[in-house]
Amino acid sequence: MSDFFNEFDTIPSQKLREIQNERLRALVDRCYREVPYYQDLFDKNGIKPKHIQTTEDLTILPFTEKKDLRVLYPYGLLGVPLDRIHRFAASSGTTGVPTLVGFTRRDWMETLREQMGRIFTGMGFRRNDLIYQCAGYGLFMGGPGMDAGAEAIGAIIFPAGPGRTLAAIQYLKDLGFQAISTTPSFVSYLVDVAQKNGINPKKDWKLRTSHIGGEPAAPALRRRVETLMPEEFEWHEGYGITELGGPTVGHSCQFSRESCELHILADHYFVEVIDPATGKRLEPGQEGELVVTTLTREATPLIRWRTRDLSALSENPFGCPCGRAAHPRIQRITGRTDDVLKVRSTLVFPSQIEEILNSTPGIGDGWQIVIDRPRESLDKLTVHTEVQPDIWQDMSQKKAIEEKIGQGVYGRLGMNVEVVLHPPGSLPRYEGKAKRVLDHREFEGGH
Ligand SMILES: [Zn+2]
Repeated sequence: MSDFFNEFDTIPSQKLREIQNERLRALVDRCYREVPYYQDLFDKNGIKPKHIQTTEDLTILPFTEKKDLRVLYPYGLLGVPLDRIHRFAASSGTTGVPTLVGFTRRDWMETLREQMGRIFTGMGFRRNDLIYQCAGYGLFMGGPGMDAGAEAIGAIIFPAGPGRTLAAIQYLKDLGFQAISTTPSFVSYLVDVAQKNGINPKKDWKLRTSHIGGEPAAPALRRRVETLMPEEFEWHEGYGITELGGPTVGHSCQFSRESCELHILADHYFVEVIDPATGKRLEPGQEGELVVTTLTREATPLIRWRTRDLSALSENPFGCPCGRAAHPRIQRITGRTDDVLKVRSTLVFPSQIEEILNSTPGIGDGWQIVIDRPRESLDKLTVHTEVQPDIWQDMSQKKAIEEKIGQGVYGRLGMNVEVVLHPPGSLPRYEGKAKRVLDHREFEGGH
């Protein structure tokens, strides 16, 4: 079977730019006519739809943010009348009012299916593959997105959903699944639980490929999982969020997966990377916030949506040997703008701590940052990390690792931190998104 789902994967760059601009003009026109929010936004800024002819012109438009969607709850951003909606999804709404995302029949039956078919194909999923599907269902788009991908390519879905780890490790052995869709933390947890229960994933499972997504994946965790999985297993990552239509935005290919880079489906999404503080567009290779414009969604169309996800355009975003030359690549997602912490007036990106841990030999998978505000004292940052079993047994090596991490953090952030080592597998594991930062300051009078 071909490595491509349809002709859009290998579309020439010039043609793709034409399609993007054509779709952008149609989107802007429609938003101005049908969505009062966008009409007001354009009018307030003295912008007419005719001012937006190409993706370069987008920079004159303000961003749309999560707080805007909350104000528009429930139907303010639908883009089509309610009777044209086929289905709803909603983001988890952990911080207040949920955001409601609509799908027309076309969004659901055609666009979602095509996007996921292309993403699965790019990740090496094939017709008749048996997929162990761990993403959640309900209002969450993870599960339904994976189902759509399987339908598109003719694969067989096993909609297990999250959790039920002991059943999962047995199913993976008994049914001989070729593919799995899950999060980085859950796949790592699965291999650990399998080993503790007498199942050797390398020999007892038949997994050949994967769709891993939903949270940033540490390279060290990925490498460890790969060494424990069957020889031919490929770790592939996908990217998307509910507000943009599901896990539909990007994916790794055979050539980009080693460097953890992801192709954007650029005929569906136009991606910019901005400085989260100034809003200015950044150059390839510069880390900032991903901003996405949906070029094909009918319901809940979004112009310059601030994702809060941190990434960068690849140093050379175009021209991948896989043939998806026109679809730019982004670097791996390292975290969220919300995760950026202010500790003793220094900005700390959790990914900076993660990089220091990854470059320290002997470190395990689990890690966490804890911030406290001791009484009458400065904020205190503690790095908790697991170490490998041989290190845990050896007092002198433990001491050396603590010092190395402490010096690494001081070198990078100019801040003294406490480092606490833990035995392998002892820090909390998460079935969904891993919680890397525990900020205790908010319970002690705020900051
Ligand atoms: Zn590629």
